[in-house]
Amino acid sequence: MRFILLTSLFMGVSSWVSAQNTPQGITEVSGNSKKVKNVILMIGDGTGLAQWSAAQARVSDPLHVYSLSEYLGLSKTSSSSHFITDSGAGATAISIGEKTYNKAIGLRSDSSVAFTLSEMLHVKGKATGLVATCGLTHATPASFYAHQPSRYMDKEIVNDFYGGFIDIAIGGGFPLFDTARLHNLGYATYLYKNTNFNTIDTSDFVAFYDTTKHPVKYAEGRGSFLKDATMTAIRNLNKNENGFFLMVEGSQIDWGGHDNDAEYVISETLDFDSTIAAVGAWAKDDGETLVIITADHETGGMSLFEETANKEAKFTFSTKEHTGIPVPVFAFGPMSYLFKGVYENNEIHGKILNALQIKP
Ligand code: MG
Ligand code: ZN
Repeated sequence: MRFILLTSLFMGVSSWVSAQNTPQGITEVSGNSKKVKNVILMIGDGTGLAQWSAAQARVSDPLHVYSLSEYLGLSKTSSSSHFITDSGAGATAISIGEKTYNKAIGLRSDSSVAFTLSEMLHVKGKATGLVATCGLTHATPASFYAHQPSRYMDKEIVNDFYGGFIDIAIGGGFPLFDTARLHNLGYATYLYKNTNFNTIDTSDFVAFYDTTKHPVKYAEGRGSFLKDATMTAIRNLNKNENGFFLMVEGSQIDWGGHDNDAEYVISETLDFDSTIAAVGAWAKDDGETLVIITADHETGGMSLFEETANKEAKFTFSTKEHTGIPVPVFAFGPMSYLFKGVYENNEIHGKILNALQIKP
């Protein structure tokens, strides 16, 4: 917890405050610089401030992402090849720490292979996990384990998964995976539809929503899958003494943006926010977990306005594609102050390693 004291209110006792005074007269007594054991990186694909604001317009209590966050930053999302990034280059920048070209997965801009965050942290003894509401070979999750020149190379991407750097993965994509091969590699496999996730008790598993390519929309009955998957991943990853790294993606917020479907965006964003609530409660109790919530880019050029007649929030879009507007970075937990400021998306990678006191 960070405490800010206005020195003007504490003139009489200021002598015992040893922290630095800023020019504004604000004294920062203590940032939370406790050691970080676990990192949970939550990516709302295509989620800019307008998407958060549209979700907020539907609920009276503050969004959990707002009430939990201790520090706020802005991430500039351009790729090495384009002003407007795609989800491959957007997630890869965070994962490898360098901007790359659109559609690239886990490769530098010169197409050479770079270690992803999951691979680096696995080598350093962290358990690693991925949770998504899309297929596990889709661009965002793939950027944390695969190295391919195009996000559309599904077969090659799934082959990279068998490299074994991910301990726990939960999402869609069943038809692309070879379950016999997963079993040979030591993974248990589950289907969400047939399994009580509370009973899963293993450090290496892959769970699919069902046997289709992507989980259905929240509005079409996905239920609490994202929250259940995330908390099941955390419970099992947390058995590792050296801590864990988990990436959680609210994948379909982006798809609502591409469809210019405000209701799709809102329901997916609220589902993501309720998962943030569960993660936040766990992480605050744990005390050694840094949580970062951001996006790879904004999708749809979404905007909000007020309808004059009934004073209702209304939503509009300016494109069916992504935009180049910087996206918010929310952070809480130990070392979360590292995420304040305005920076390039690839800098998130170094901030995570700094927080873990790991040299690349
Ligand atoms: Mg995505
Ligand atoms: Zn997209």
